Amino acid sequence: MKKRNQDGIVSQERYLRLVEKTRLFGTSQGDVYEIKICRNSCPMILSDLSRFQDRILDILEKHDFESWVRRNVKNYFLAHNRFKISIAGCPNACTEPQIKDIGVILRAKPFYNGDCNQCRLCEKTCRENAIVISDYPEFDYGRCVACGACERVCKQNAITTEKYFDVYIGGKLGRHPQFALYVESFKDEREVLRIIEAIVGLVKEYNKTRIGEFVNEENIGKIRNCILNEVK
Ligand code: SF4
Ligand code: SF4
Ligand code: SF4
Repeated sequence: MKKRNQDGIVSQERYLRLVEKTRLFGTSQGDVYEIKICRNSCPMILSDLSRFQDRILDILEKHDFESWVRRNVKNYFLAHNRFKISIAGCPNACTEPQIKDIGVILRAKPFYNGDCNQCRLCEKTCRENAIVISDYPEFDYGRCVACGACERVCKQNAITTEKYFDVYIGGKLGRHPQFALYVESFKDEREVLRIIEAIVGLVKEYNKTRIGEFVNEENIGKIRNCILNEVK
């Protein structure tokens, strides 16, 4: 069991200690790719993501990605040109999925589950002011970022959450930085892996390792349809 303070929230002091002592996310880095994934050592992580690292490496190996890049892509070896994939274990998004070629954010949408005693802990905890307590918590889903903190603090188990992965593509830094664009949401990590494989296939088909440039040249709707058709 992960230790939490009385309110069920990880204190800033403890979080910073954890950041110093443990690596909250792991990185696999080759010459042409980088994979960054949150680790279970982070107390805010919404679900175990440890299987992603090996599965993504399997996908890159299956598509002979590293050799393909070396053969086909000129001027690739600038550090910021690496093909970057990031999976964040909660909407805090410390692995920076918004600026990666493929970015994934795990979220937890809250629902009322019954037995609220109106203690208001969830309301005080929510940094987005997305909860109002009358007889029970009512969620403003326009404000909620699906971080799951309200579920963690409720001692009554009166809040439950539904977890899902938001997938984004085309984020980058470099000369012309831009945020990744939303593609689709998935409940199952196997679907996320299939989408990642479809994107790798598309990158090879169009000879475009910088998805940000690809997204700017083509219509995001067209790219999105190509990717989703691959996994239907
Ligand atoms: S994104 Fe969330 S799970 Fe990942 S390191 Fe940051 S706080 Fe922890
Ligand atoms: S949902 Fe839980 S934390 Fe929120 S007011 Fe009710 S009992 Fe308290
Ligand atoms: S999931 Fe996070 S943002 Fe949404 S209501 Fe709960 S605490 Fe607030």
